[in-house]
Amino acid sequence: MKSIIIDKSRDKANDECGVFGFYNNDNFDIVSVTHDAMYGLQHRGQASAGLTVMKDGEPHTVKDLGIVSTVCTEANLKKLPNGEISVAHLRYTTLDYLDRAASQPLVMRYIEGSLALANNGCITNFAEIRNELEQGGAIFQSNSHAEIIGYTIASYKVDCDTIEDAVLRTMEKLKGAYSFVISFPDKLIGVRDPHGFKPLCIGKLENSYIIASESCAIESIGGKFIRDVQPGEMIVVDKSGIRSLFCNKKKRASLCLFEYIYVARPDSIIDGVHVNSARKKAGELLYKENPVEADLVCGVPDSGLDAAQGFAEVSGIPYATAFIKNKYIGRTRDGVGTDKKNKLLKMRLNVLKNVVEGKRVVIIDDSIVHGNTSAHIVKLLKQAGASEVHMRISSPEFKYACYFGVDLPEESKLISNKMSVDELREHIGADSLSFLSIEGIHQIADGCSIGLCDGCFSGNYKADKPKIIYEDKFASKIQKF
Ligand code: SF4
Repeated sequence: MKSIIIDKSRDKANDECGVFGFYNNDNFDIVSVTHDAMYGLQHRGQASAGLTVMKDGEPHTVKDLGIVSTVCTEANLKKLPNGEISVAHLRYTTLDYLDRAASQPLVMRYIEGSLALANNGCITNFAEIRNELEQGGAIFQSNSHAEIIGYTIASYKVDCDTIEDAVLRTMEKLKGAYSFVISFPDKLIGVRDPHGFKPLCIGKLENSYIIASESCAIESIGGKFIRDVQPGEMIVVDKSGIRSLFCNKKKRASLCLFEYIYVARPDSIIDGVHVNSARKKAGELLYKENPVEADLVCGVPDSGLDAAQGFAEVSGIPYATAFIKNKYIGRTRDGVGTDKKNKLLKMRLNVLKNVVEGKRVVIIDDSIVHGNTSAHIVKLLKQAGASEVHMRISSPEFKYACYFGVDLPEESKLISNKMSVDELREHIGADSLSFLSIEGIHQIADGCSIGLCDGCFSGNYKADKPKIIYEDKFASKIQKF
């Protein structure tokens, strides 16, 4: 098996999948357009990459473990025809093993032809649906949630007049978080779950339609962002144009707040809020809630930088670049020893000694999961001669697990679940430590058109947790990271 390196050593909640769909009304080179858009979503997942082009109702796919540049080579893309519809996927796996069969788009045959599906999310009744389908004789290639979505749509289509009805029925069956794009022989469909946990938006490139996880993917190919897909909405694009349908299931909308803090790209707009503005506002509020006297404000690259600017502007403390991030270091596997992780962390972030020496430094990061990275950052700053290090975190303490597709560890492994803020400050060696409050994090998304999920911070989940956890009997046979 080729060597694939997944970054699970980051002391962060990890990012999730990216999805993209294109309905070609202009005879664009669909392979080239889709390939370019995939780079715009690469930040959402690096475990696998893939695209399917639908030509005359037949799917043609390139997908594999790896990032866009290694999977979508020129030689591989040459195998794809120009077609009418495309679907692409960037996968971040929440599992600790590689499974090539889980790479998406998932391509299946159903009663009326082929479908290609790319999903971002976590179905909380996955175990129940999977067991039910297996009891009915279904055979699965992987434990990807996309497979149960595809199977459910395909099985409902047997009784439904239209594929739209089959998808709407599927939405009523699925629980949890999902945003997916799916191509059928003659139409592209985009769906966002009734809570709206994961972002999904619509764009246009001349007369062609785009459905994507984030607006930055639309803009990266010169397209125009039109609007977000609403929670519970299904967008259908075909020869007759674009239309919107809603499933009957009404839920409290709850976009994942962590999209604004860390997951999404800063140049995206999600549900009416610019991600970079939200991050900057987090920094402003962080200063107002937790002021400190210092000489410099610095951010941990990349997602701490906007918040650091906000903190600097409102406090009047000068903003400076303290860390240089090595973008060329290979991503690291979970399971590597602590010494190796520390070495990789050290190689990834280098401190500018001449900037911080003798200075009282405020350092802003987006979150603390295990505390290792924060301790390392404080140590680097102190070794470089900073006289004081004040750490400020632009989100509240992670105290609870996420059941909706963000790869946070279980509660017992979250350091804020085990330590008070002062204990944690001592643990990481900072002179002071503060987090943004839960009230504050809601304010960063002022103007967001839907409700927000803060479950991992507050413990108040707006959707049910999984009742049964699915256990994959074959996982032990697959290569671990
Ligand atoms: S629990 Fe936290 S990480 Fe999970 S969806 Fe809600 S806000 Fe996002």
